[in-house]
Amino acid sequence: MVTFGTRPEAIKMFPVVAALRETGQVDVKVVVTAQHRELLDSVLAVAGLRPDLDLDLMLPDQSLDGLASRILTRFGAALDDLRPDRVLVHGDTLTTMMASLACYFRRIPVGHVEAGLRSGDIYSPWPEEVNRRVTGVVADLHFAPTDTAAKALRLENVDEKSIHVTGNTVIDALLFARTRLAEQPSLAPSIAPLRERFAGRRIIAVTAHRRENFGAGMAAIAQALQTLASREDVAIIYPVHPNPNVAGIMRPALGDHANIALTDPLDYLDFVAMMEACDLVLTDSGGIQEEAPSLGKPVLVMRDTTERPEGIAAGTARLVGTDPTEILRETSRLLDDRAAYLAMARAHNPYGDGKAASRIAALVAAAGRPEARAG
Ligand code: UDP
Repeated sequence: MVTFGTRPEAIKMFPVVAALRETGQVDVKVVVTAQHRELLDSVLAVAGLRPDLDLDLMLPDQSLDGLASRILTRFGAALDDLRPDRVLVHGDTLTTMMASLACYFRRIPVGHVEAGLRSGDIYSPWPEEVNRRVTGVVADLHFAPTDTAAKALRLENVDEKSIHVTGNTVIDALLFARTRLAEQPSLAPSIAPLRERFAGRRIIAVTAHRRENFGAGMAAIAQALQTLASREDVAIIYPVHPNPNVAGIMRPALGDHANIALTDPLDYLDFVAMMEACDLVLTDSGGIQEEAPSLGKPVLVMRDTTERPEGIAAGTARLVGTDPTEILRETSRLLDDRAAYLAMARAHNPYGDGKAASRIAALVAAAGRPEARAG
């Protein structure tokens, strides 16, 4: 059983589902919690993936404990019904942690895709750092995207034999998207009109949605974007996350600006086309930190810590936090200093080679069926 509930998980798991099916050795069931609804559905449509079971758990204004408990009981019931031999979870969401716990309570083995990311701070990213640590305790197969992630698991005394460095499936998904877009550019209908509207300007792609930036952080980001957009040579394309803590600040602050296009969340192919079209990326997202280096786009990360140090070490990503002065200084440096820009705009793939999913599928198939099951 492969389970996930959010947009980034779906993007990173659809290649795994396809690769598992390709092995011909595994009967795959996809169960989605839909802890996000529309954002998840948009990826399922692009990937052509139809879940075998959709728990449809999202509620308006859902609290962390309410959602966590719904996932635990409803996903647990799905396990009792479908009785999988193994479950694969991804990353660090509440779905990841609660599905892992439900498996643990039934002694069903868990494989963790994108294992070993650590910031070292349980409140940043929050609650993801604890979600992934708990899952790391339960899992018996850890698919680490990078050597750094594998090292973090070893430091937590995870059994060496259970750690496999596979690359991150985000690159598999990105290559799929780029191929589709190259074959059929009309698959990204939102981006061509924006390219035309902003022709001749430097395009900055923006996303922001992290819980720890809600409130003061979001207001500070909005302020920095307002100042940036006052430059004649700049345009900002910003798909606004629907969470009211984000949209409620960004839409009133930035909605009327001639140099800013606020859009609804973009379908994945549109989003990849936007990243290809932009000059640089400002984001607090995890996945986008992984995608941008592959596309040769400098990323300024609006967070104080990152569990993805590889992009920073390679020089394509830089932490700028949410202080408007720092965001403006670093963005202006990239816009005005050609050498600084070129130094960061190198295409490379510290996060994977596009073959992570097939490695994971081979390891899962080789692991076979567990002998012991809960009574
Ligand atoms: N993404 C998308 N449309 C958008 C914004 C992001 O398809 O409007 C994709 C993006 O390509 C990346 C993923 O969503 O693969 C990142 O998701 P998000 O930033 O929500 O979560 P995080 O990666 O921080 O967990």
